Amino acid sequence: MPAGNPLFNHHQFAEQNTMMQPPIVPPPQQQPGMYAPPQVPQGGGYQQGGGGAPNTNNPFQNHQQHHQPHIPLVQQPPPPPPAAAPGGITSSSNRYPPNPALQPQNYAQPPPVPGSYLPPQQAPAPQRYVISGQPVNPSNIYPTIPSPGAPLPNNYSNQQQQPPQQYQNLNQAPLPNSHNQNQYVPPQNQQHAYNNGGVGVNQVTGGLNSMSITQQGFNKLWGTDHADLLKTRQVLPPEGVKSPEIRFQHEYMNHVNCSPDLFRCTLTKIPETKTLLQKARLPLGILIHPFKDLTQLPVIQCSQIVRCRSCRTYINPYVYFVDQRRWKCNLCFRVNDLPEEFQYDPVTKTYGDPSRRPEVRSGTIEFLAPADYMVRPPQAAVYLFVLDVTTLAVDTGYLKTVCDVLLEHLDTLPGDARSQIGFITFDSAVHFYNMNSSLSQPQELVVCDIDDIFIPCPDNLLVNLEESKEVVRHLLTNLPGKYLSSQNEPRSALGAALLAAQKILGPIGGRITVFCASLPSVGPGSLPNRQADVKSVKDLTTALNPSTDFYKKLALDCSTQYIAVDLFFLNSQYCDVASISCISKFSGGSIQYFPNYHMVENPIQAKLFEQAMVRYVTRKIGFEAVMRVRCSRGMSIHTFHGNLFVRSTDLLSLPNVNPDAGFGMQVSIDESLSDFQTVCFQAALLYTSSKGERRIRVHTLCLPVAGNVNDVIQSADQQAIIGLLSKMAVDRSLSSNLMDAREAFVNAVVDVLSAYLTTQNSLPNLALVAPKCLQMLPAYTHSILRSMGFRADLRPRLDDRTQFMNQMKTLPLFQLIQTIYPDLYPLHTIASVPLVQVPQSSRSTTPENGEEEEKYPQFPVLHLCSDRIEATGVYLLDQPDLILIYVCRNVSTQFCEDVLGVQGFVALHEMDDLPELETEWANLIRNFISYLQSNKPYQVPIRIIREDSRERMWFVNNLVEDRGEGSVSYYEFLQQLKNMVK
Ligand SMILES: [Zn+2]
Repeated sequence: MPAGNPLFNHHQFAEQNTMMQPPIVPPPQQQPGMYAPPQVPQGGGYQQGGGGAPNTNNPFQNHQQHHQPHIPLVQQPPPPPPAAAPGGITSSSNRYPPNPALQPQNYAQPPPVPGSYLPPQQAPAPQRYVISGQPVNPSNIYPTIPSPGAPLPNNYSNQQQQPPQQYQNLNQAPLPNSHNQNQYVPPQNQQHAYNNGGVGVNQVTGGLNSMSITQQGFNKLWGTDHADLLKTRQVLPPEGVKSPEIRFQHEYMNHVNCSPDLFRCTLTKIPETKTLLQKARLPLGILIHPFKDLTQLPVIQCSQIVRCRSCRTYINPYVYFVDQRRWKCNLCFRVNDLPEEFQYDPVTKTYGDPSRRPEVRSGTIEFLAPADYMVRPPQAAVYLFVLDVTTLAVDTGYLKTVCDVLLEHLDTLPGDARSQIGFITFDSAVHFYNMNSSLSQPQELVVCDIDDIFIPCPDNLLVNLEESKEVVRHLLTNLPGKYLSSQNEPRSALGAALLAAQKILGPIGGRITVFCASLPSVGPGSLPNRQADVKSVKDLTTALNPSTDFYKKLALDCSTQYIAVDLFFLNSQYCDVASISCISKFSGGSIQYFPNYHMVENPIQAKLFEQAMVRYVTRKIGFEAVMRVRCSRGMSIHTFHGNLFVRSTDLLSLPNVNPDAGFGMQVSIDESLSDFQTVCFQAALLYTSSKGERRIRVHTLCLPVAGNVNDVIQSADQQAIIGLLSKMAVDRSLSSNLMDAREAFVNAVVDVLSAYLTTQNSLPNLALVAPKCLQMLPAYTHSILRSMGFRADLRPRLDDRTQFMNQMKTLPLFQLIQTIYPDLYPLHTIASVPLVQVPQSSRSTTPENGEEEEKYPQFPVLHLCSDRIEATGVYLLDQPDLILIYVCRNVSTQFCEDVLGVQGFVALHEMDDLPELETEWANLIRNFISYLQSNKPYQVPIRIIREDSRERMWFVNNLVEDRGEGSVSYYEFLQQLKNMVK
């Protein structure tokens, strides 16, 4: 096992950085004309995400170093940025014209700059999720007339103090007796709730724009910006939980920060000392989605990238310009010279203000790297597909989907004229395919000696895609018919196939894509079936850890050769995801999981897999990637989470990087930050694009420093906290055991609520008080404790549990939260919710002049609780991989006719999509669904189900606030917390 991550202090950190420059790729011994593998520390040098030094605020502290899992599944874009904060991603156009009044501040504040650099990669798109300022017909807003004397619902932030009468039922009604909580109450008698809900919705959405800043400020000032969770039933903001805004005194600094879609910290104000962090009892860490698809990205080509000579930080919007020729690093405070080029404006051909440069105008930027960022010529795009053709695999029919998707996208695989491709199939033997361009059809070569696998011919197993395209097409067309289950072999030699794949790619690097449907049973890497060994929750620790180090060792060899291994599991039986997934965890790969996949018998899974495949073969890819994350002096970064390998203290090796992968890191405060107003984190991702360009994407996040415990707690980002805690809980489950991890999770919540309590005076004794920014923390925690990954019984299958944990380690935050707590929307309130404009990025067509802008209804998000379900309702449950529409039996006739295309509930059939109707409601709901889909990496299946069908459990099981089998209700959980909070 790896030696621990040293908890390096600032001094070591700076030194390390200096030694490591130019950062990024450790130079291999390069020979002319030959690719040489880079050097990797041997023996104890192996580390992977998750190992690390103890964190003072780490409830999962005891953890020892162990393998830990991670894995990205399919993913999608993160949550929309808050409407008021236009995110950090800007084009190099003059989006944020400078305010001359701020000039003397000397922050890198740019005047408008003409387009002297490469244009943004794609057409600029507007900010997402702009809450429309369109006037909404008042009759739409308040369809229900509030009872006389009820306060007008104009201020949501105020509602807990003075709820309108009708809303009150929903918000503050006495909770049902806990023994009723678990049952799914058929919503017949809840007619009234609809009206109340309606008012609530309108109140909220109507109040969005008019929310009083003064009132908020007042609440904060007097510490009343909190609620008693035991009394307040509605803590989920109807517009959904958003990342907290990061505010600086200087307006300019607010505009140029990195988008929360890309970079989040668990606290939006950093405590000035370790002691203060301990007082707040909150975990400190950052979450990064570094290679997310962006619609706007300034790209810069220059001969010299300006970086700090001491700590190698890239120049960014938060540096300080001492004068026109010098800048002070915002991470280590060294004063650096500015190269002349940086002051030169190629458009006006004059020397001028350095702050006009795009580098200091955007929190996210990409550089085309000059030659000194390369240790070898940038590699070509190389794809090797390794396909399971054992009986179990062939029976699922997946081969046809894979081959069809590849055939269709062969011309659009990311790459250039140098792109190479190869195929291996395996059962108990390994089958290779010679695809020399001179052949009319591929030549199959079978190696049965799997214990000592060798490559049957030196060339043509990996071929130039352009030259051999016809042979490749021939193979893909005929492969599915070649393997028929009746003739096939049940045993799997996955390990041997992987060894062979590594031998083929070793000299170049690239991507290995593995499809796996059965437990490897012969040759190297074969695995025992461990399912029967798990007789109690205690046995899980062993079963969740790999049973062999074969896959990890191979992954590390791959990592040094710039090879990443991506996995697609298509198993219906146990196939030891825990062991096999190490091949991806340590090589920067991705892991996607389609349990019970069958092309015909499981149409939803089949559709999902097909969409995932299309996304997979068309999404961006970065080869030969490494990432380094730096932070301001006085802090340090440790314990990395994600599919990566920690090559040196802070250099993360990612042989491939994909746009759907997220990462997390824990952060310590080592020295007092009280002299600083702000601190910064900077992530730099160096990669080779599929076109063979070396590029560096740099994200800079700046946060204010706080000296007061209440400020720190009020700055908490509850979603980011859950994102970090869930990663730590996975490590804890593997290194210690599941029960410890669960306990640590609860303790983390109890800790912060206790810390908050001590900052407040004279609170009623029986209250469980949480500040506004943390009110969903207990609900998320409750949900995660009963999730497939962390529930304390043996109901989840072992592989399901492992994959859930893999996802917690690697999903970008938006999807991670949606996995834990899906979004529930009441579609039947369509007549009463406001409309907002569909963001351009999710629009199918650009509106012509005069054409009406597409709009979608802004449905409020509901708590996942059966008492929010009404007999007349229709609900949409948005999960990362499935959109469910649940129709209750008293649904209105109008909704049935206008949206579902039937006369009434009786006539409704379960469907895989809404019918294409040209009614206003149908159009609006279609727009809404397109909007939800646009937040995902690819379109997911839709399923419409009736309240009385068998499939209703897919919906009901997601009402996680109810009591479930073997788990307490949310309300009972709150009562438990109450008893623990001191
Ligand atoms: Zn520096």
